[in-house]
Amino acid sequence: MILPKTNRLTNEQLAEVTQIVTEFGCKIQPIIGAVRTIYAIVGDERDELMINRLEGLDYVDRIDRIQSPFKLMDRRSDLASHRIAVGGVTLGEELFVIAGPCTIDPKNPGYFYETAAAVKEAGAHMIRGGVWKPRTNPYTFQGDTKSLDILMEGSRRTGLPVDTEVMEEAHVRLALDAGVTCLQVGARNALNYSLLRTIGREVASRDNVVLLKRSIHMGPINEFISAAEYIAAFGNPNVILCPRGTTPAPDGYRNHPDESITPLLKEKTWAPVVVDPSHSVGKAAYVPGAALAAVAYGADGLCIESHVSPNHGIGDDPKQALTPETLALTIRQAKQLWALRRTSAKATR
Ligand code: PEP
Ligand code: MN
Repeated sequence: MILPKTNRLTNEQLAEVTQIVTEFGCKIQPIIGAVRTIYAIVGDERDELMINRLEGLDYVDRIDRIQSPFKLMDRRSDLASHRIAVGGVTLGEELFVIAGPCTIDPKNPGYFYETAAAVKEAGAHMIRGGVWKPRTNPYTFQGDTKSLDILMEGSRRTGLPVDTEVMEEAHVRLALDAGVTCLQVGARNALNYSLLRTIGREVASRDNVVLLKRSIHMGPINEFISAAEYIAAFGNPNVILCPRGTTPAPDGYRNHPDESITPLLKEKTWAPVVVDPSHSVGKAAYVPGAALAAVAYGADGLCIESHVSPNHGIGDDPKQALTPETLALTIRQAKQLWALRRTSAKATR
């Protein structure tokens, strides 16, 4: 990792460092932070001669060689002071809430518009709505690109940014071109490295955010953080980690609730953690409790499925969506707990 003395390298300086690393079979990947740009050396950066030449440049402050599998997402990395701001919230400074239906129904867009207005009223900062859906059964509704217009209309009507899942490279470009702020990587694709690379590359030059769900089958915490590292290494450090339950599930739950990994993640990475209690427990009645548990564990935010009329929703909504009233109550309680936790964390430090 190259840290320049100034906020960023000039074009001439970048050309010079690129030429040096190319001689050693490496590449340079700029990582654009809010204030400062740092430069990842992609490839085998252990060559002492290359490091000496780079350290000898008068505009280079230092070369950091973090011995961590995730150089950018590690808590000790130079990106640790990077903050992600979205929907008027800087994550870590206020509880951040994403809410909306599982899936947009293209035949009944009114439900999405009503839900978007209602979740805004309930206190959400970003609206979620599935355009393309990863369905276990190939004969169920798979989503519809037409819903992208409905999603963006919901965003215009409420003035809130939107989040939607992208499952393939074409979706990434369609969503970004339409103006989607947050690209969601679903639990089934969290280990799809080709998609992670594309997302990193495509969002690099834009101010977008990625909500990376934890894979259903993801074991070690490092595997989750490494998936985030893929996106960052290809150019965009705005990655939010989203535990959403793993399998196998205890009887009665949809997945094994995993909000308790939040403190473990925070020990290793600076990335904000936004927990999805909806897909974890999978039943509306259990979602408020799971949401509060996530906040108690130190989550920076919540991603909750909600619908004005859950029984008219499609996808997961009939089972797990909260009504806007229950959502509003859950957000109120979660904010109180978040504030309480923050005060006690300061007191015990
Ligand atoms: C969703 O958010 O509706 C969804 C399908 O999530 P996951 O990828 O976590 O199953
Ligand atoms: Mn869903």
